[in-house]
Amino acid sequence: MAIKDKVVVITGASSGIGEDTAKLLAARGAKVVLGARREEKLKELTQAIKEAGGEAVYKKMDVTVPQDNEELIALAKETFGGVDVIFLNAGIMPNSPMSSLKTSEWNDMVDVNIKGVLNGIASVLPLFTEQKKGHVITTSSVAGLKNYPGGAVYGATKWAVRSLMEVLRMESAQEGTNIRTATIYPAAINTELLGTISDSSTLEGFSALYDQYGISSERIAKVVEFAIDQPEDVNVNEFTVGPTNQP
Ligand code: NDP
Repeated sequence: MAIKDKVVVITGASSGIGEDTAKLLAARGAKVVLGARREEKLKELTQAIKEAGGEAVYKKMDVTVPQDNEELIALAKETFGGVDVIFLNAGIMPNSPMSSLKTSEWNDMVDVNIKGVLNGIASVLPLFTEQKKGHVITTSSVAGLKNYPGGAVYGATKWAVRSLMEVLRMESAQEGTNIRTATIYPAAINTELLGTISDSSTLEGFSALYDQYGISSERIAKVVEFAIDQPEDVNVNEFTVGPTNQP
């Protein structure tokens, strides 16, 4: 089963990497199920996909709320009869120096970037286990491999995603459930992500970096496409992807 007709659930689908992935996979014939908090953006995207001949549904949801994740999966089952792939992509990056003590933003990152991924996994794992098939794809970050000043908590959340995915992969293999896992570690990708940074000097630094190096989120969509396109007995675990000229 290639991408065509696969049911793909995507969180963080209202902009950036999630939005471009939804468009690309729908153009390849996947049935996409879109989740995020901004309903208007999801509605417009769903409309655009349908006008282009694709199949899509959406649900306003917050990944930090377990029930919202369960309802997104329920929508996929009701509309398209199941789930083949879940792309747990929603994330925020309000970077700042630790000394600025933006503790509320630290907690938000833990909630969205770690608990949001856990909620997504919990919502679909029983189904994937029962059907002995499924694919979990997450967006970590290069900050989940090598961190930098200003990225302490963000990097910690993305390291956590790496850990969750690695153990999910090992346990799925041990348990014989045939669940595939792929973790993507992007570098500078031009999206709305910098809009989550409230610390002005951190924002200035990141804006300069992204202006110099940032590439389109369509590039990451192609990586998701590649992971799904592999034969069912092939699991491509990890992708580190960034601009060619970013040191
Ligand atoms: P965007 O800001 O464009 O997209 C983030 C998405 O996450 C939006 O759709 C947003 O939708 C959604 N989101 C945020 N909080 C929640 C929430 N509580 N519940 C549901 N959805 C939520 O940035 P990107 O496309 O860049 O980000 C996608 C992923 O890629 C993130 O995990 C990010 O950490 C990661 N990443 C990005 C890099 C980059 O350089 N851009 C580099 C490395 C990793 P809404 O606001 O409507 O809820």
